[in-house]
Formats: sequence, C-alpha cells, structure tokens
Amino acid sequence: MKKIQMVDLKGQYQHIKDRVNTSVLNVIESTAFVNGPEVHEFQKELENYLGVKHVIPCANGTDALQVAMMGLGLKPGDEVITADFTFAATVEVIALLQLTPVLVDVDPVNFNIDIEAIKNAITPKTKAIVPVHLFGLAANMDAIMDIAKEHDLYVIEDNAQGIGATYTTRDMQKVKTGGIGHVGSTSFFPSKNLGCYGDGGAIFTNDDALAHTIRGIVNHGMYERYHHDVVGVNSRLDSIQAAVLRAKLPNLDAYNEARRNAARKYSKALSNIPNIITPTGYCDAGISICDTCDCHVFHQYTLRIVDGDRDGLVKHLNANDIPCGVYYPIPLHLQKAYADSRYNEEDFTVTNQLVKEVISLPMHTELDDEQIEYITNKIIEFIKK
Ligand SMILES: *Cc1c(COP(=O)(O)O)cnc(C)c1O
Repeated sequence: MKKIQMVDLKGQYQHIKDRVNTSVLNVIESTAFVNGPEVHEFQKELENYLGVKHVIPCANGTDALQVAMMGLGLKPGDEVITADFTFAATVEVIALLQLTPVLVDVDPVNFNIDIEAIKNAITPKTKAIVPVHLFGLAANMDAIMDIAKEHDLYVIEDNAQGIGATYTTRDMQKVKTGGIGHVGSTSFFPSKNLGCYGDGGAIFTNDDALAHTIRGIVNHGMYERYHHDVVGVNSRLDSIQAAVLRAKLPNLDAYNEARRNAARKYSKALSNIPNIITPTGYCDAGISICDTCDCHVFHQYTLRIVDGDRDGLVKHLNANDIPCGVYYPIPLHLQKAYADSRYNEEDFTVTNQLVKEVISLPMHTELDDEQIEYITNKIIEFIKK
C-alpha cells in the first residue's frame, strides 16, 4: 500500500507535471513575474468557471477577506458576524481592521453558521455577515441573503474551503459558492481544493463598482499610476502561481469529484458504526439525499465521534501510520486573541461540543480503495474495542 498522506500534492503533481513545468518555465523566460499575462488569463478563466463577473487575484486568502472588507468601506466599530467554528483568518482580518467581530454558534449537522444565531446577534451596529463554506459545504445562503436584505447588511463569503462547490437555491438553481454574496474570497494555499505552489488568493464580486474599488486597494490604493486615492495594500498573485493555477483549473471538477468519491467510500464503511456521525453531503436547501449531488467538495472529510474517545482515535490512527487532523480544536471565542466579555458560553453549545468530537481523515485527489479500506478498518477496530 502507498504511504497514506493527509494531502498528497506529490501524487497530484505527477499527473500535471509536463504542463506545469512548461508553463512555469515560460513565465521565468518571459520575466513577467508580477501581473503578467498568466495572471490575466487565469482571472478570465476563473470568472468563466465560477460564473462571476469579476475575479481579483491577490496574494492569499487572508488578504482576500481583508481587502473585501476594505472594499465595502466597513468602519472601525462596525459589527461583523461570523462563525465561532472556522479557521482563525476569518476573524483575524475583522479584528485587524478594528471592526468588531461577533462570533456565533454553528449548526451541528452541516457545521456552518447557525441561522437563528445570526438573527439573535444582529444589533444596529451590524454591517456584515461572513459565512464560511466550512470543509467544502455551502452555508445556507438563501436564509443568509434574506437576513442581509432585511437588515441591509453585506454578505462576504469565505470560500477558501469551498472552491467549486455548488449551492442549490430554494428554487432549485445550482450556483457556485463565492459569487452569491456581495463579495467572496478564496485561498489557493497548496492544500486547498485548488492550490498553487505557494501562496495565492482571489476576491469575487458581481458588482462593477466594488470590483473597481478592490482592484485599486490590492495595488496600493492606485487607480491611476502614482495617484493614491485610498489607503491600500500590496497584495498580488505571482505570475508563476497563476501559471500553476491555469494548469490545475481545468481539473478542478475532476479533483472535487475524486474527493467526493473518497468521501462516499468513507461514509459507506462508517455510516452504521456506533458513536460515529459521518458528514452530511448536502447543502441544507431541503434537498433529499442523492448519490449524484455535487454540492460538497470535501475540503475536509470530518467525522464526529460522539460519546467516544476522539483523542484516543487520533493516537490509534497515528500509531498505524494514518495521518489525521482536528479542525478545529479550540472555538474562536475561547482563543486569547478573540475572547470578549460579552460572550456567554451557553451561546456556543454546538461549537464547544464539536471541538471535542471532530476528526478529519486524509482527503485528497489521490486516495485509493486500499488506503480507504485500511483507514476505515482501523477506525472500526478502535471504536469496537
Ligand atoms: C485557508 C483559509 C483562509 C486563509 O487563506 P490563506 O491563503 O492561508 O491566507 C481563510 N479562511 C478559511 C476558512 C481558510 O480555510
């Protein structure tokens, strides 16, 4: 059996090596390292793929979120509601911009921001909601857009884990995540579903004026050379990274399908095992379970170990050469940087529970049946012991 990796970037590279090597060398020959033609081509190709009017490439997914918030003109003291159960980057940029993060609990089934909790957190100072399509499954965007409309709020989708995922709207339209809210962001960190070979990110919007504002912000607030109209940042996607991304984008749907395939096999083996809750594969638009559903892109395949020894399972898997991860072990509201005396523990019952139960299994495009069977057998062996 091949050695099991959490993410197998080497294996994936073998299939695209010629194309990647040629395009990267071409960039080097051209010496157009920053904002070269590759960046522009990638931008257009991603706009087409996502069905979104504007893609603004930038340096990483954290910058993408920050620049999106700057572009919306959010001001210090404005409250921004986001999920307690996500990667810290989401809340970090809110705090950095001196906006007030308002963390709320998540849904125990899809792990995404809880709709009632959003409603309860709204105050006259609320200006935006940041849903995160956690682990590759869309948040309940219909409900979130309804709340935003009613209270005149912006919606910023953190799509770092959800690139290529679809959301099925209540009138059964399938749309790609990232282009549903007023603005969206993603990350091309190597381990993400569409990863480059370094850092990269992008911002998405269908709003022409906002796109224009954001294009200036990522380039030192310049709209005309050496005229700085607003305070901006330096956040660019390297041409070499764009070349890698152009080689990989045509495979993104196949990559996500390979992840879904692995997820189906995991779930088939683990769905009737006591103490294990397998992840839902479906966005919560009242859609019934279907084998062909393409909602979830399984950035992570995350089990809940209920009334069991999650930490013991982590050790057992590691002892059997199976890497695994706990995303995330600490709720954001309990992190030193983001603690706030206004928070009440009883408002975070789901997140507080999930951090004790979740375990993410190896998930990438190169997993084979033998590896999946070995992994699921080792899990069952531990649970039944
Ligand atoms: C990875 C990630 C980010 C940050 O992306 P970087 O490119 O690493 O800056 C933001 N939000 C979420 C949910 C992520 O998973």
